[in-house]
Amino acid sequence: MRLQNLLRGIVGSASGPVIPGQVAFDPEARYQDRAAYVKRKVENRFKRYFLSHPDPELHAILAAIDEKIAPATALEDILLALDHGKEKLYKSLRIKTAPLAAKSLTIKILNLFLSKYHFVTRGTNLLSSPYGIIVDPMNACQLACPGCVHSNRSKELKLFDWGPGVLSEAMFADFMRRYGPYAIEAEFCNYGEPLLNRNTPKLIRLAKTYLARTMLSTNMGVKHFNAEAYVNSGLDYMTVAIDGATQSVYEKFRRKGDIETVFKNVRSLIDTKKKIGKRTPLVSWQFLAFEHNQHEIDDAIKMARSLGVDQFVVATPFDVSPDDPSILASKQPPRTVVFRPDGSRGMLENWNPFPAEIQAEPIEQEFAASWRERLVASSDAGNPDAHTCHYLYKNIVMDGTGRILPCCGAPQPHVDLVFGNAQSGADLFNSEKYRLARLSFANPTEYKVKQASTLTAAPYCANCEWSHKAQIDTEHLKNYFVVVGSDVFSPASVAMLSSW
Ligand code: SF4
Repeated sequence: MRLQNLLRGIVGSASGPVIPGQVAFDPEARYQDRAAYVKRKVENRFKRYFLSHPDPELHAILAAIDEKIAPATALEDILLALDHGKEKLYKSLRIKTAPLAAKSLTIKILNLFLSKYHFVTRGTNLLSSPYGIIVDPMNACQLACPGCVHSNRSKELKLFDWGPGVLSEAMFADFMRRYGPYAIEAEFCNYGEPLLNRNTPKLIRLAKTYLARTMLSTNMGVKHFNAEAYVNSGLDYMTVAIDGATQSVYEKFRRKGDIETVFKNVRSLIDTKKKIGKRTPLVSWQFLAFEHNQHEIDDAIKMARSLGVDQFVVATPFDVSPDDPSILASKQPPRTVVFRPDGSRGMLENWNPFPAEIQAEPIEQEFAASWRERLVASSDAGNPDAHTCHYLYKNIVMDGTGRILPCCGAPQPHVDLVFGNAQSGADLFNSEKYRLARLSFANPTEYKVKQASTLTAAPYCANCEWSHKAQIDTEHLKNYFVVVGSDVFSPASVAMLSSW
């Protein structure tokens, strides 16, 4: 009998699992009910075995696809392998998760394999979808921090092409309808303050119904903060940016900010989590270390501990001195102080927080679709030896007005980063600029010819001077599959799914 069938028997049995420390040891009862005792022993032994060996068959299915992901394999063969593995993968996942969740996981995993293939071959026209979604719920901020598109100098000199806008529920729903089924994570922040959009909790909840990991970064300084809406939204992780312990130091960088409002809102969030009994969102205080605030780091750590946040992170800011020469990064090394080691366990409980609301129709539709039938051309102009930028294969970014950007860079008059518009209904991830941007790395000579023929499309990527690596940040992927559950993916499977 297969091991998972045995476990299903255990889960379905009348006796619950024995939790050490919760059940008092009673030798009399043990002898009075010898049969029940033996049954529990057997069950626990199988359970322990199962947890340490989640599912060799699932791992074998993943390995069979993974070994094909190589430049030598033709795209058509990859697509056939995905179609071939789909049912097997689903059936294996179905043993441990609900049917719809298993289908959702199946298409996310198969898309991930295809993304990896396009990345290693440096493809230009992708059949995969972005698995990392970044959206700006609000193209505005109440602060004016140096270096930001919202700084006073940026606005006065019109340095950036960043107009106002509020992301609507309808636009986000349409965007998620296309990309949500494949999304591993959704970040609700870029340049705007997400808490200014009163619908942000609804947007987060929608992303959770596609089983995406959700996070946002906020200055937490808004006047009206609805803590209950955020705790109930299903948000996994919240970065709270507070770069000081006193008002006079804090406002040197967080211009127009009021630190007491920030503390009040953090307190409200932590109290609400306790009241509702939820560990999410995990709250991480991020302290950007500058020369002007580094002497307050220890006081800020004390404050963070007393507020009850989960962790405190000292981070290195990027250089904002071109905007304000008086604001200089400190030489403090980055570090993290964890107050609640079990804080991340909340995300394990939060992978599928709204099972009754999972987006059945789009998930079923994408699951039913054949991968092979997506093929329009048998080859792509890739070059596996070329450098590239990882953002072009994994992320898609949308601002509050629906503009599509390839990464977190802000468009400027000479920096063409608007690769499409969500309202166009077009294939955004393969817009002309996206394809040209990938081609600029994969085949610079061909890029020049094609770009010249378009007249208008000149994606900044071809001349990008920012740091761009041909390397995927695998931590995000690892974190996702870990929180799905240790009884679903073994450490070996998690390592395989997150190794690029
Ligand atoms: S190459 Fe530069 S502009 Fe293009 S996606 Fe990468 S970081 Fe952004």
